[in-house]
Amino acid sequence: MKKKVIILATGGTIAGVGEEGKIVGYIPGSIAVDDLIAAMPKLKDVADIEALQICNINSDDITDKIWIRLANTINELSKDPNVVGFVVTHGTDTMEETAYFLNLTIKTDKPVVFTGSMRPATSISADGYMNLYEAVCVATSNEAREKGVLVVFSDCIFAARTVTKTSTYHVTAISSSGMGAIGIVRDGDVYLYASPSKCHTTKSLFDVKSIDKLPKVSLLYFYADADPGLLEYAAKSSDGIVIAGAGAGEFSESYKSIIEKFNIPVVVCSRIDGGIIFKENLLCDNTVAADNLSPQKATVLLRLALACKIDRQNLQEIFMKY
Ligand code: GLU
Repeated sequence: MKKKVIILATGGTIAGVGEEGKIVGYIPGSIAVDDLIAAMPKLKDVADIEALQICNINSDDITDKIWIRLANTINELSKDPNVVGFVVTHGTDTMEETAYFLNLTIKTDKPVVFTGSMRPATSISADGYMNLYEAVCVATSNEAREKGVLVVFSDCIFAARTVTKTSTYHVTAISSSGMGAIGIVRDGDVYLYASPSKCHTTKSLFDVKSIDKLPKVSLLYFYADADPGLLEYAAKSSDGIVIAGAGAGEFSESYKSIIEKFNIPVVVCSRIDGGIIFKENLLCDNTVAADNLSPQKATVLLRLALACKIDRQNLQEIFMKY
Protein backbone atom coordinates (compact mmCIF):
# COMPACT_ATOMS: atom_id res chain seq x y z
CA MET A 1 0.00 0.00 0.00
CA LYS A 2 1.28 3.47 -0.93
CA LYS A 3 1.84 6.05 1.82
CA LYS A 4 -0.91 8.64 2.25
CA VAL A 5 -0.11 12.35 2.38
CA ILE A 6 -2.71 15.04 3.05
CA ILE A 7 -2.23 18.40 1.35
CA LEU A 8 -3.88 21.30 3.17
CA ALA A 9 -4.07 24.25 0.80
CA THR A 10 -4.38 27.85 1.97
CA GLY A 11 -3.59 29.81 -1.23
CA GLY A 12 -0.61 32.06 -2.00
CA THR A 13 1.42 32.45 -5.16
CA ILE A 14 1.66 28.70 -5.68
CA ALA A 15 -2.08 28.92 -6.46
CA GLY A 16 -1.67 32.29 -8.20
CA VAL A 17 -2.92 33.13 -11.68
CA GLY A 18 -1.74 36.01 -13.84
CA GLU A 19 -1.02 36.92 -17.43
CA GLU A 20 0.38 33.81 -19.14
CA GLY A 21 4.19 33.73 -18.84
CA LYS A 22 4.42 36.80 -16.55
CA ILE A 23 5.62 36.95 -12.92
CA VAL A 24 4.30 40.32 -11.70
CA GLY A 25 0.67 41.36 -11.30
CA TYR A 26 -1.04 38.03 -10.58
CA ILE A 27 -3.76 37.13 -8.11
CA PRO A 28 -2.64 34.74 -5.33
CA GLY A 29 -4.99 32.02 -4.11
CA SER A 30 -6.81 31.51 -7.43
CA ILE A 31 -6.25 27.82 -8.28
CA ALA A 32 -8.11 25.10 -6.36
CA VAL A 33 -5.86 22.51 -4.72
CA ASP A 34 -7.33 19.68 -6.84
CA ASP A 35 -6.25 21.52 -10.00
CA LEU A 36 -2.76 22.11 -8.58
CA ILE A 37 -2.41 18.41 -7.88
CA ALA A 38 -3.82 17.46 -11.30
CA ALA A 39 -1.07 19.59 -12.91
CA MET A 40 1.59 17.56 -11.08
CA PRO A 41 0.81 13.89 -11.96
CA LYS A 42 4.18 12.74 -10.59
CA LEU A 43 2.89 13.31 -7.05
CA LYS A 44 0.89 10.09 -7.37
CA ASP A 45 4.11 8.10 -7.80
CA VAL A 46 5.25 9.31 -4.37
CA ALA A 47 2.10 8.93 -2.29
CA ASP A 48 -1.67 8.61 -2.26
CA ILE A 49 -2.71 12.23 -2.08
CA GLU A 50 -5.76 13.54 -0.29
CA ALA A 51 -6.43 17.28 -0.54
CA LEU A 52 -8.23 19.73 1.72
CA GLN A 53 -8.86 23.32 0.72
CA ILE A 54 -8.62 25.16 4.06
CA CYS A 55 -8.93 28.56 2.34
CA ASN A 56 -7.62 30.12 -0.87
CA ILE A 57 -6.20 33.50 0.04
CA ASN A 58 -3.23 35.82 -0.06
CA SER A 59 -1.24 34.86 3.05
CA ASP A 60 -1.32 38.48 4.22
CA ASP A 61 -4.97 37.74 5.07
CA ILE A 62 -4.15 34.75 7.33
CA THR A 63 -5.79 34.97 10.76
CA ASP A 64 -5.57 33.29 14.16
CA LYS A 65 -8.80 31.44 13.31
CA ILE A 66 -7.17 29.81 10.26
CA TRP A 67 -4.09 28.89 12.32
CA ILE A 68 -6.24 27.23 14.98
CA ARG A 69 -8.30 25.40 12.35
CA LEU A 70 -5.12 24.12 10.66
CA ALA A 71 -3.64 22.89 13.96
CA ASN A 72 -6.82 21.14 15.06
CA THR A 73 -7.38 19.60 11.60
CA ILE A 74 -3.83 18.18 11.50
CA ASN A 75 -4.10 16.93 15.09
CA GLU A 76 -7.32 15.09 14.19
CA LEU A 77 -6.17 13.67 10.82
CA SER A 78 -2.81 12.53 12.18
CA LYS A 79 -4.63 9.87 14.20
CA ASP A 80 -5.22 7.95 10.93
CA PRO A 81 -2.44 5.32 10.80
CA ASN A 82 -2.50 5.39 6.97
CA VAL A 83 -1.48 9.06 6.92
CA VAL A 84 2.31 9.40 7.00
CA GLY A 85 2.58 13.16 6.70
CA PHE A 86 1.11 16.52 5.70
CA VAL A 87 1.91 19.30 3.26
CA VAL A 88 0.59 22.82 3.78
CA THR A 89 0.63 25.12 0.74
CA HIS A 90 0.85 28.77 1.78
CA GLY A 91 1.79 32.22 0.54
CA THR A 92 5.41 33.03 1.28
CA ASP A 93 4.73 36.39 2.96
CA THR A 94 3.54 34.96 6.29
CA MET A 95 4.48 31.30 5.81
CA GLU A 96 7.03 31.60 8.61
CA GLU A 97 4.42 32.71 11.16
CA THR A 98 1.95 29.93 10.30
CA ALA A 99 4.71 27.29 10.23
CA TYR A 100 5.96 28.44 13.66
CA PHE A 101 2.42 28.49 15.07
CA LEU A 102 1.91 24.86 13.98
CA ASN A 103 5.39 23.96 15.26
CA LEU A 104 4.13 24.98 18.71
CA THR A 105 0.62 23.53 18.56
CA ILE A 106 0.49 20.29 16.60
CA LYS A 107 0.67 17.04 18.51
CA THR A 108 2.19 14.63 16.04
CA ASP A 109 5.67 13.39 15.10
CA LYS A 110 4.56 12.92 11.48
CA PRO A 111 6.18 15.40 9.09
CA VAL A 112 4.20 18.61 8.49
CA VAL A 113 5.84 20.35 5.56
CA PHE A 114 5.09 23.87 4.30
CA THR A 115 5.72 24.96 0.76
CA GLY A 116 4.74 27.67 -1.69
CA SER A 117 6.27 29.51 -4.60
CA MET A 118 7.68 32.82 -5.71
CA ARG A 119 6.32 32.63 -9.26
CA PRO A 120 2.61 32.21 -9.99
CA ALA A 121 1.47 28.93 -11.53
CA THR A 122 0.95 30.66 -14.91
CA SER A 123 4.48 32.11 -15.18
CA ILE A 124 7.41 30.76 -17.21
CA SER A 125 9.26 28.14 -15.14
CA ALA A 126 6.83 28.34 -12.21
CA ASP A 127 8.60 27.04 -9.12
CA GLY A 128 5.50 25.85 -7.25
CA TYR A 129 5.22 22.45 -8.92
CA MET A 130 8.76 21.37 -8.02
CA ASN A 131 8.38 22.78 -4.51
CA LEU A 132 5.12 20.84 -4.06
CA TYR A 133 6.71 17.63 -5.34
CA GLU A 134 9.68 17.99 -3.00
CA ALA A 135 7.42 18.84 -0.04
CA VAL A 136 5.39 15.66 -0.63
CA CYS A 137 8.64 13.65 -0.79
CA VAL A 138 9.72 15.10 2.59
CA ALA A 139 6.24 14.43 4.04
CA THR A 140 6.69 10.71 3.24
CA SER A 141 10.19 10.55 4.71
CA ASN A 142 10.72 8.60 7.93
CA GLU A 143 13.78 10.68 8.65
CA ALA A 144 11.69 13.87 8.61
CA ARG A 145 9.61 12.66 11.57
CA GLU A 146 10.13 14.31 14.97
CA LYS A 147 11.80 17.35 13.40
CA GLY A 148 8.94 19.75 14.10
CA VAL A 149 7.26 21.64 11.28
CA LEU A 150 9.45 21.95 8.18
CA VAL A 151 9.48 24.25 5.17
CA VAL A 152 10.63 22.94 1.80
CA PHE A 153 11.62 25.53 -0.79
CA SER A 154 13.99 25.44 -3.77
CA ASP A 155 15.47 22.03 -2.90
CA CYS A 156 16.17 23.04 0.72
CA ILE A 157 14.58 21.93 3.99
CA PHE A 158 14.24 24.52 6.78
CA ALA A 159 13.07 24.34 10.39
CA ALA A 160 9.93 26.37 11.20
CA ARG A 161 11.55 28.32 14.04
CA THR A 162 14.37 29.77 11.99
CA VAL A 163 12.91 29.96 8.47
CA THR A 164 12.19 33.40 7.05
CA LYS A 165 11.50 35.20 3.79
CA THR A 166 14.64 37.02 2.69
CA SER A 167 13.79 38.39 -0.75
CA THR A 168 10.79 39.78 -2.58
CA TYR A 169 11.74 38.16 -5.90
CA HIS A 170 14.38 35.40 -5.75
CA VAL A 171 13.09 31.81 -6.18
CA THR A 172 15.28 31.04 -3.16
CA ALA A 173 13.47 33.70 -1.11
CA ILE A 174 12.62 31.29 1.68
CA SER A 175 15.74 30.69 3.68
CA SER A 176 17.09 30.66 7.22
CA SER A 177 19.57 33.53 7.12
CA GLY A 178 22.49 32.76 9.44
CA MET A 179 21.06 29.43 10.63
CA GLY A 180 20.92 27.73 7.24
CA ALA A 181 18.96 24.78 5.89
CA ILE A 182 18.73 21.52 7.86
CA GLY A 183 18.57 19.38 4.74
CA ILE A 184 18.07 19.15 1.00
CA VAL A 185 15.93 17.25 -1.51
CA ARG A 186 17.39 15.85 -4.71
CA ASP A 187 15.31 13.89 -7.27
CA GLY A 188 12.84 13.20 -4.49
CA ASP A 189 15.44 11.80 -2.09
CA VAL A 190 15.59 13.49 1.31
CA TYR A 191 18.92 14.28 3.00
CA LEU A 192 18.73 15.69 6.55
CA TYR A 193 21.81 16.98 8.35
CA ALA A 194 20.51 18.63 11.54
CA SER A 195 17.63 18.60 14.03
CA PRO A 196 15.98 21.62 15.65
CA SER A 197 16.85 21.70 19.35
CA LYS A 198 14.13 24.01 20.68
CA CYS A 199 10.90 22.54 22.05
CA HIS A 200 8.17 21.77 19.48
CA THR A 201 5.10 19.70 18.54
CA THR A 202 4.56 16.70 20.86
CA LYS A 203 6.75 18.22 23.60
CA SER A 204 5.20 21.68 23.39
CA LEU A 205 2.78 22.70 26.14
CA PHE A 206 0.64 24.79 23.80
CA ASP A 207 -2.73 23.30 22.99
CA VAL A 208 -5.39 25.10 20.94
CA LYS A 209 -8.10 22.43 21.09
CA SER A 210 -10.44 24.58 23.12
CA ILE A 211 -9.32 28.01 21.91
CA ASP A 212 -11.04 29.89 19.09
CA LYS A 213 -8.99 33.08 19.02
CA LEU A 214 -5.68 34.49 20.24
CA PRO A 215 -5.03 37.61 22.33
CA LYS A 216 -3.96 40.75 20.48
CA VAL A 217 -0.26 41.56 20.31
CA SER A 218 1.18 44.62 18.55
CA LEU A 219 4.63 44.73 16.97
CA LEU A 220 6.47 48.06 16.91
CA TYR A 221 9.64 48.68 14.95
CA PHE A 222 12.05 51.08 16.61
CA TYR A 223 13.90 53.54 14.37
CA ALA A 224 15.92 56.70 14.94
CA ASP A 225 13.71 59.38 16.49
CA ALA A 226 10.66 57.06 16.60
CA ASP A 227 7.54 58.66 18.05
CA PRO A 228 6.94 57.15 21.53
CA GLY A 229 3.26 58.08 21.14
CA LEU A 230 2.98 54.98 18.92
CA LEU A 231 3.83 52.82 21.93
CA GLU A 232 1.14 54.39 24.09
CA TYR A 233 -1.39 54.06 21.30
CA ALA A 234 -0.55 50.37 20.69
CA ALA A 235 -0.59 49.51 24.39
CA LYS A 236 -4.16 50.82 24.77
CA SER A 237 -5.57 48.16 22.45
CA SER A 238 -3.12 45.26 22.98
CA ASP A 239 -2.69 42.40 25.42
CA GLY A 240 1.06 42.39 24.78
CA ILE A 241 3.74 44.25 22.82
CA VAL A 242 6.71 43.05 20.78
CA ILE A 243 9.44 45.59 20.06
CA ALA A 244 11.84 45.16 17.18
CA GLY A 245 14.63 47.15 18.78
CA ALA A 246 17.76 48.48 17.15
CA GLY A 247 20.95 46.41 17.54
CA ALA A 248 20.67 44.10 20.56
CA GLY A 249 17.07 45.22 21.26
CA GLU A 250 17.77 48.84 22.10
CA PHE A 251 15.62 51.95 21.89
CA SER A 252 15.64 55.58 22.98
CA GLU A 253 15.34 57.02 26.50
CA SER A 254 11.86 58.30 25.61
CA TYR A 255 10.79 54.75 24.59
CA LYS A 256 12.35 53.40 27.78
CA SER A 257 10.48 55.76 30.08
CA ILE A 258 7.15 54.67 28.58
CA ILE A 259 7.92 50.92 28.42
CA GLU A 260 9.02 50.89 32.06
CA LYS A 261 5.49 51.86 33.09
CA PHE A 262 3.67 49.18 31.04
CA ASN A 263 1.65 46.53 32.84
CA ILE A 264 1.21 44.35 29.76
CA PRO A 265 4.05 42.01 28.71
CA VAL A 266 6.68 43.50 26.43
CA VAL A 267 8.99 41.19 24.45
CA VAL A 268 12.16 42.64 22.98
CA CYS A 269 13.63 41.38 19.68
CA SER A 270 16.10 42.83 17.24
CA ARG A 271 15.18 44.52 13.99
CA ILE A 272 18.40 42.98 12.65
CA ASP A 273 17.98 39.74 10.72
CA GLY A 274 19.91 37.23 12.82
CA GLY A 275 19.86 39.37 15.97
CA ILE A 276 19.93 37.67 19.38
CA ILE A 277 18.66 39.31 22.58
CA PHE A 278 19.92 37.98 25.91
CA LYS A 279 18.40 38.89 29.28
CA GLU A 280 21.55 40.94 29.95
CA ASN A 281 20.72 43.15 26.95
CA LEU A 282 17.36 44.28 28.33
CA LEU A 283 17.04 48.01 29.05
CA CYS A 284 13.86 47.64 31.17
CA ASP A 285 13.32 45.14 34.00
CA ASN A 286 9.73 44.50 33.02
CA THR A 287 10.62 43.22 29.51
CA VAL A 288 11.36 39.76 28.13
CA ALA A 289 14.26 38.85 25.82
CA ALA A 290 13.22 37.01 22.66
CA ASP A 291 16.47 35.05 22.18
CA ASN A 292 16.96 34.80 18.40
CA LEU A 293 13.25 34.74 17.51
CA SER A 294 12.34 37.19 14.77
CA PRO A 295 9.88 39.94 15.79
CA GLN A 296 7.09 38.40 13.69
CA LYS A 297 7.60 34.99 15.31
CA ALA A 298 7.78 36.56 18.77
CA THR A 299 4.22 37.83 18.21
CA VAL A 300 3.11 34.22 17.60
CA LEU A 301 4.76 32.87 20.75
CA LEU A 302 3.55 35.77 22.91
CA ARG A 303 -0.04 35.36 21.67
CA LEU A 304 0.07 31.64 22.43
CA ALA A 305 1.65 32.21 25.84
CA LEU A 306 -1.07 34.73 26.71
CA ALA A 307 -3.81 32.42 25.37
CA CYS A 308 -2.49 29.59 27.51
CA LYS A 309 -2.30 31.86 30.58
CA ILE A 310 1.46 31.61 31.09
CA ASP A 311 2.43 33.65 34.17
CA ARG A 312 4.46 36.81 33.65
CA GLN A 313 7.36 35.36 35.67
CA ASN A 314 7.50 32.28 33.39
CA LEU A 315 7.45 34.23 30.12
CA GLN A 316 11.24 34.59 29.93
CA GLU A 317 11.68 30.84 30.34
CA ILE A 318 9.12 30.25 27.57
CA PHE A 319 11.05 32.52 25.21
CA MET A 320 14.29 30.63 25.89
CA LYS A 321 12.62 27.22 25.51
CA TYR A 322 10.52 27.64 22.35
N1 GLU B 1 1.32 38.05 -0.92
C1 GLU B 1 1.19 36.74 -1.45
C2 GLU B 1 1.02 35.70 -0.36
O1 GLU B 1 1.72 35.67 0.58
C3 GLU B 1 2.27 36.43 -2.37
C4 GLU B 1 3.50 35.92 -1.75
C5 GLU B 1 3.73 34.49 -2.12
O2 GLU B 1 2.86 33.63 -2.00
O3 GLU B 1 4.82 34.24 -2.55
O4 GLU B 1 0.12 34.89 -0.48
